[in-house]
Amino acid sequence: MTKFAEIAVALPIDKLFQYKIPEELYNDVKIGVRVFVPFGPRTIVGYVVGLNDSAEVANIKEIKNVIDKQPVVNDEMLSLAKWISENYFCSWGEAIGATIPGGIKKGKESIGSRIKIPEVRPEDLIMTDPHVLMEEQKWALDEIVRSIDKNEFRTYLLHGITASGKTEVYLQAIDIVLQKGKQAIMLVPEIALTPQTIERFVSRFGHRVAVIHSHLTPAKRFLEWKKIKDGKADIVVGARSAIFSPMSKLGLIIIDEEHETTYKQDDVPRYNARDVAEERARMNKCPLILGSATPSLESYYKAKHGDYKLIRITKRIEDRLLPKMKIVDMRMDLATRKKITIFSKVLLDAMEKALNAGKQVIIFLNRRGFSTFINCKKCGLVIKCKRCDVTMVYHYEEKRLVCHYCNYHQAPPDICPKCKSGYIKYFGLGTEKVESELSRMFPNIKIARMDSDTTVKKGSHDRILEKFRSGAVNVLVGTQMIAKGLDFPQVTLVGVVSADVTLNIPDFRSSERTFNLLTQVGGRAGRGEDGGEVIVQTYAPDHYSILAAAKHDYDKFYNEEIISRKELLFPPFTNLVKVVVRARNDDLTRQAAQALAEALRAKDRDAMIAGPAPAPMARVRGYYRYNILLKGRDKKAMCALLKKVLSVHRKPHGVLVAVDVDPISM
Ligand code: ADP
Ligand code: ZN
Ligand code: ZN
Repeated sequence: MTKFAEIAVALPIDKLFQYKIPEELYNDVKIGVRVFVPFGPRTIVGYVVGLNDSAEVANIKEIKNVIDKQPVVNDEMLSLAKWISENYFCSWGEAIGATIPGGIKKGKESIGSRIKIPEVRPEDLIMTDPHVLMEEQKWALDEIVRSIDKNEFRTYLLHGITASGKTEVYLQAIDIVLQKGKQAIMLVPEIALTPQTIERFVSRFGHRVAVIHSHLTPAKRFLEWKKIKDGKADIVVGARSAIFSPMSKLGLIIIDEEHETTYKQDDVPRYNARDVAEERARMNKCPLILGSATPSLESYYKAKHGDYKLIRITKRIEDRLLPKMKIVDMRMDLATRKKITIFSKVLLDAMEKALNAGKQVIIFLNRRGFSTFINCKKCGLVIKCKRCDVTMVYHYEEKRLVCHYCNYHQAPPDICPKCKSGYIKYFGLGTEKVESELSRMFPNIKIARMDSDTTVKKGSHDRILEKFRSGAVNVLVGTQMIAKGLDFPQVTLVGVVSADVTLNIPDFRSSERTFNLLTQVGGRAGRGEDGGEVIVQTYAPDHYSILAAAKHDYDKFYNEEIISRKELLFPPFTNLVKVVVRARNDDLTRQAAQALAEALRAKDRDAMIAGPAPAPMARVRGYYRYNILLKGRDKKAMCALLKKVLSVHRKPHGVLVAVDVDPISM
């Protein structure tokens, strides 16, 4: 008779707890159900992960109540959660919590949605037939079907430029999986979960499609989850958390835009859905397709070394042309016009021409609030850390430049150390300024701006795009929010105000981001009959990420970038683990971070440990934050070192420590 239960709790405690099962609950306590248990002075929710006949401790407490009649997590999800806890530095209970919808965890109402996802009713359904595949699409599908037929785990990297027909390959692969009586999950970045994407799936597969995204209310989310759990959906299309869809006959997982950083969760458990998908595909003996026009360096490296099978689609459907990309050297613009301006003459002329012809224009500036770098407008120099090759960040309070990886400091120069000019300036331009400059210069045109400031209100996102689509607005100014997926045939010109904003964010992935963003943003131009042009302004016109993007040449970019990753020992040659120390007092935080870094170094003299250094957002919601960065080839060994040190290390009262494995930013 099982009388005791092993309980995992959703707290950062790396162990299980044993509780006694009261007689009246003998039949109800099963593996995978949630229970209420006394925990110190509180009552909390726990997950039953094991049952025993005997107790290991005396004075054992009793389970208070059972919440679920049926298990909310099955064996597969329990194993997957276990894997997450071992790889992303969290407890098993915290990881289990991530696999079930938030609505049933707490039952709280969520914040309202910004993007309205239409509900498809049966009478709206117009079914569409599959396309006859082009040659390269067919090769891609044949490869994947081989793994489907063999029930084999294998990861495919599908590298194809935008509009090369990747999604059509996904749809037909899913169709084959369904014919075999199996199911499929397709992850897309949140921002790509547009009504068009969903309609494309629903019009091919009808009501066997479930959709999971963060704008669902908890109740809706729960209904979709239940539909999947009850076997009433065979295809799930969703954002990151959809990787935990409780399907019992999984036969295929697809991750579109696999390079997207939104697949990484920035809260506990800090998993990357791309890696979780790989583990889940392995457990289910099924293929995983990673698709992208600009694969992550990590994935392309694995494909080149045979860990993944690389499939390429090199041609666009109907041989549609890629837009022409022109690079404008802002140093030259300054030299000829003798003043620092937001818009070069080239971009101004092109805008005038497009607007006079009645066309639409997109102006892009990815200005992130905290990345203030110093840039010489004459020669283009940006000051970088000697040790890390990442951009130094200007800190107002101390009036110093700081490296956010290793904490190297230096005074900001008054004249450029390279060309000795006095045109060395802080880069402080944002979309709001761009908008006001534009309306001053073009008083008769209608301008709309889309960034996180203008889309706070529910529905505002849709309203802005609708105005642009209808032609009521001539110029759309925006951040990366407008880089993806938008399809406006009247747009013939895309202007990138400064490629340098992304290039100079203090991050080792800044070149990769720049290449991705330019490629995506460029894809917004010339989608109609009239073709299009992309104009990219920069003070670094010779940078390989900009040159390669202008030539639409991913391999050229990869071949340069991989050399610098290797030299500086960044991923894919190492794994990173970021330790964030935070507290309400600056001195206290810095000292605590220093003490922790020293304790780590004392335990392992060979470990590569950098910092502490102030975080890029050094102060968030009243907390000061310092980062310690561990670099190494063995992720598990680094986690083990951290666990060991953190379990004995005494930190001052009020100091909090968070650990992020494979962080996507500092
Ligand atoms: P990607 O996912 O690579 O951006 P899509 O699959 O969305 O590309 O294809 C781009 C467009 O071409 C879509 O409108 C799609 O319906 C169409 N398309 C895809 N494959 C074919 C094909 N074999 N023949 C004709 N049209 C196709
Ligand atoms: Zn200079
Ligand atoms: Zn440094």
